[in-house]
Amino acid sequence: MTRSRVAAERSPEVLTYRNFFDSVSGKRAGRPIGLPRFKSKRDGRQSLRFTRNGFRLRGNGKLNLAKIGDVRVKWSRALPADPSSVTVVLDAAGRYHASFVVDVEPGHLPEVDAEAGIDLGLTTYAVLSDGSVIDNPRFLRKAERKLKAAQRELSRKAKGSKNRAKARRKVAKAHAKVADTRMDWLHKQTTKLIGEAQAVYLEDLNVRGLAQGRLAKSVHDAGWATFRRLLEENAARYGRHVGIVPRAFPPSQICSECGHRDGPKPLHVREWACGACGVLHDRDLNAARNILAAGQADRLNAPGGPARPGVAIPRRARPVERGTRLGDPPRTGARATGAGGIPVQ
Ligand SMILES: [Zn+2]
Repeated sequence: MTRSRVAAERSPEVLTYRNFFDSVSGKRAGRPIGLPRFKSKRDGRQSLRFTRNGFRLRGNGKLNLAKIGDVRVKWSRALPADPSSVTVVLDAAGRYHASFVVDVEPGHLPEVDAEAGIDLGLTTYAVLSDGSVIDNPRFLRKAERKLKAAQRELSRKAKGSKNRAKARRKVAKAHAKVADTRMDWLHKQTTKLIGEAQAVYLEDLNVRGLAQGRLAKSVHDAGWATFRRLLEENAARYGRHVGIVPRAFPPSQICSECGHRDGPKPLHVREWACGACGVLHDRDLNAARNILAAGQADRLNAPGGPARPGVAIPRRARPVERGTRLGDPPRTGARATGAGGIPVQ
C-alpha cells in the first residue's frame, strides 16, 4: 500500500493538481496555475512510449514496436548506445517521430579560458562580449506570407469536411517547417557558443511578460527560452557553465568601462557616450560586457564558485534529462531524436 501511494504522489496528474490547489490557496507564488490538461484524441500531438521490452531494433534499420510490427525509420543519426525507451510521436503535420532515450557518459570538452556575456535582442539576435554578433534569422517573419495563404485556404473549407482536414494538415506542415528550421538553427548556435566558452552568462529575461506585449510575435520567433534551455543542456553535457544574471540589473544603463550609472536609454539609442569617462559605447556590446562582469561576480560569490577571478572551476550546470522524473538518480542522458517522418501507412 505504501509503495503504491508513493507512486501515486509522484504521478504528474497529482503534482499538477497540487500545484493548482497551492496556487489557488496562495501557497504557491508566481503566475496562477490552471487545472491539468489531459491528452485528447483531438490534440494536434499524439504520443506513445515503449519501454525496454516493448521495442526492438532490427538489423536492417527497422524499428519493431510491440503490437504494431516493423516500421521503417529515417534515422537522423546513429544511436550512441542501447536505448532504454522510445517514444513515438504523431505531430499535427501528420508526421511520426521516434525519440529514443539513451544514457551516455558525459564527454567533457577540454577547458578553455574564454567566457562570454550574451545580450539577447530582436534587432540582432545576440551580441557577445567579445564583439561578435549573431544575426536574427526571423524564421516566422520570413514564412509569414506562405502561412497566411495556407491559413486563408483553411478558413474557406467547410467544417468537418475532408478538404478541411487536408488544409489543416497543410497549415500544420508549414508551421512545423518554421519550428524545425528554428530548432536546427538554435541547436547549432548554442553548441557553438558552449564549445567556444568555458562559461556563458545571459540575462534572466521575462519571456512570458515580453511575449504578451506588442513584440510578442517577434519574441516567440526568437525562441529565447529554447535558446537558454539548449545552452544549459549543452553545458551539462560538455562540462561548461551557464550563469543567469538577475533581471533587476540594468545592463544597458551602466558604463562597462568605469561603472558609472548613466540612466535609462530609449530603445532607439544604439550608441551613447558615458557621462563620467566619455567612452563611446555600442548599446548591445556594452550590455554584453556588463552581463559578463555581473555573471562572473555572481559566480565568484556563489558557494562552490572559482577561488579567484579568472580561474574557471566549472560548476556542473544543471544536468538535464528530459523524459525522466525529478527525484530519479542523476544521470546525464542525451536524447537522440530520430527526426524525419516514418511515412503514414
Ligand atoms: Zn564610463
